[in-house]
Amino acid sequence: MEREKKKRILPLIRNMGGVILGMTLLSSCFQQASSGKRTNSDFVVNSPSSVSTGYGRVLEDNPIILSGNASLSPEYNLGLLLRSGQEYISESQFLEGSCLNLEDCFRAREASNVALIQATDNKWAFQTTTSSFLQVQTFAHIKRILNKFHSNISTHFSLVNGGLKYKSAVPDLLMVSKSYWKNDKTLEGYALCDLEDNASFSAANYELCMGYDSIYENLKFSQDNTVIYHEVGHAMVDIMMNMRNNNQNYLDSTFVERSDLGYLSYDEAGAINEGLADYFSYFMNQRTHFGEWALGRVSFQSRPMSESDPIHAAGISTASNERLSYPTYLNYDPNQKSKILEDIHYAGQIMSHFLVAFTQDVQDRCKLTNEKAIEYTLFNITESLAELGDLTTKASDHYSASNNINLNKTYASLFVSALRPIDYRSFSQTFAKNVMRTFGNSATGMCAVAYQQDYIESLLDQYGLLLFRNYNDSLNGDGGTGLSDRIVIAGNRKKSELISKSVLKLEDRTGKVQAIVVDSQESMKAVRTALVGSGQIAPLSSRIDSDLGYNNANGKISPGEFVGLLVNLRNTSNSTVSGVRLIGSDWAHFYKDTTTATPTAKPCNIDSYPNAGAVGTDTNANSSCADLTIDELTDGTAANTEYLTYKHFPSCMVQINDANGTRMASQKELMEKISLTQNKCLDPNDPKSCFIRIPRGGDYAWYSRIEAGATWIERFVDSSTGKPKIKTGNLIYLEVSPDIPAGTVFSCRFRASFTNCSDCFDNGTNTDFKDSHYMEDDPYKIIKFEFTVTD
Ligand SMILES: [Zn+2]
Repeated sequence: MEREKKKRILPLIRNMGGVILGMTLLSSCFQQASSGKRTNSDFVVNSPSSVSTGYGRVLEDNPIILSGNASLSPEYNLGLLLRSGQEYISESQFLEGSCLNLEDCFRAREASNVALIQATDNKWAFQTTTSSFLQVQTFAHIKRILNKFHSNISTHFSLVNGGLKYKSAVPDLLMVSKSYWKNDKTLEGYALCDLEDNASFSAANYELCMGYDSIYENLKFSQDNTVIYHEVGHAMVDIMMNMRNNNQNYLDSTFVERSDLGYLSYDEAGAINEGLADYFSYFMNQRTHFGEWALGRVSFQSRPMSESDPIHAAGISTASNERLSYPTYLNYDPNQKSKILEDIHYAGQIMSHFLVAFTQDVQDRCKLTNEKAIEYTLFNITESLAELGDLTTKASDHYSASNNINLNKTYASLFVSALRPIDYRSFSQTFAKNVMRTFGNSATGMCAVAYQQDYIESLLDQYGLLLFRNYNDSLNGDGGTGLSDRIVIAGNRKKSELISKSVLKLEDRTGKVQAIVVDSQESMKAVRTALVGSGQIAPLSSRIDSDLGYNNANGKISPGEFVGLLVNLRNTSNSTVSGVRLIGSDWAHFYKDTTTATPTAKPCNIDSYPNAGAVGTDTNANSSCADLTIDELTDGTAANTEYLTYKHFPSCMVQINDANGTRMASQKELMEKISLTQNKCLDPNDPKSCFIRIPRGGDYAWYSRIEAGATWIERFVDSSTGKPKIKTGNLIYLEVSPDIPAGTVFSCRFRASFTNCSDCFDNGTNTDFKDSHYMEDDPYKIIKFEFTVTD
């Protein structure tokens, strides 16, 4: 198992087989460069005497493109690819640069533990074989993309601030609050990082790390500017996602929350993030392939962004019925066409291909240059991410109330990571809304003749992404934007398939498992280190042995363990369901039973459970589990106190045997029944999760797709071991109290949802569920999972 908090450029898989004998394969692996062939007559010696003060030289593009040779030797002297023109680097002492009005917002050096280099005679010209050259190269290309990105944001800001009448997500105070950047952070670019065969970006540390090739010692990732663009692209995504959060932090320094586009080893937000990072390479050079040198040359891992790329499999083309469509190509690697891989980089290709196709569509229809079409497309990406990542929940400064997006401030982080995470549906829906506000509105001047709803819908549909019924202009929050929803033209949905949530079931075929429990001490210690270390979950309860000494690797849930749980879901339909998530967080599935002298919290009946037959008679149970009000979810209200006492409970209930027979109850009731003092609960402040606690952050799991009639573990199998390829993000985590009497039965009501679902986001009508419903069962298929705690 592995968990990657950092956004790496590559999956951690390398086709070693092709490294030595790959020469004959190469021509089919790369887009053929059409220009850039050099002659020796341009050859320059890159030395201080050959440049002006403050200047240096860098590789204008990656060596494959510059040489025009897809088979360029990894040992090639890159000095031969430098052009005589100089690049302005910096007149300061170090490789430090500014962003708009922000000084020293980025810098470059060899690695985190190495000092910044200084200019030689105030010049930055070095031999290409030196680390100093790589640092200048890294710095210069970070600078190029930041300049272009910030110029784009400035233009965008003037447009929305200059009387353009739509409810932009860009904060009014963008420039004052400097929310075009991450607070006062300095983006660190490490030109020669200790990372084998990869490059990465860390949002937490705000650093990009350009690694090296493990076979060819002269091949470094920072020699490939397109890889630098991809990594800086992740930093830009982080800025766009947090534009409104950063702005709120400026207004109120106690507001420090930030959102991520992607939380787990695999989720669709992370895939979209990779697709966007690839698109940033296109943003810079308008080429629809990236990483030809650092990724493609010996690792066969460069990625295309258009179906016209010769690297693609047969049957993929720009024809409307041959696009890289969702969910068909979620696990597709064009470099290894027969492999099935659950990986955000491959899944993200659907997004990069869609965005490139969209850019070309508006270029044609709106009579734009390619460069303008890219710039304007980025406006819409910015708007979409700023809105979807907004934890202030307002979505735009121009709505009067809050609670428009991501439920409310209390639950916003839970909402955007687990309850209704950003997926291919929500991104497409939000992007389409913004497209109609910009390209679709002639007042913006972006399109010669206003872009039509039919155009965006039919293009989304070619990609299988017309998964929504309305554009959600009203937003589905409880605040109310005052806007009415544009409705999707149903006839435009030809390829995009929507499937009922009822098709998901807990595996019930004979001879198959309902769940896999990962409980070996070694594995779970590694998982704990990864999850706690990255901040995904808080440190475990002090009631769990610090050495996980109770973890006994018997594949069962035993007292005192910390376990990972893979709930084995089966898709009973004839179609692929995709973007499947299972949620184990606390939710409103209890009600206040007032039929006894002292009111108690009892489980609601959902799908005739836990009290079969009670649905018709126990009106109290049914009416009390009716829709929540936003008041109940708002901190500090009387309704919220009632809500937290009687309705909001952990997913896992426990079986109790008493005078009234056997019934499902809250864990608090078990605590009282066995007279356990509350300070022995997993969380001494929360008797409701006294015995089984699912830590926040470990309370949701993702699966890229589940095939018709099958389970996830049947598709993602390690061919060498025959076992499922489980990663940390496929599991829900349970802390199991050492005080649970052996034989105790628990029943967890997990909530499942998926992206291509016909009734997970609306109830089949043209109105999306309100955000508050995501604390209930309406948007979800309830998966009842029972287990007995045994030693
Ligand atoms: Zn990446």
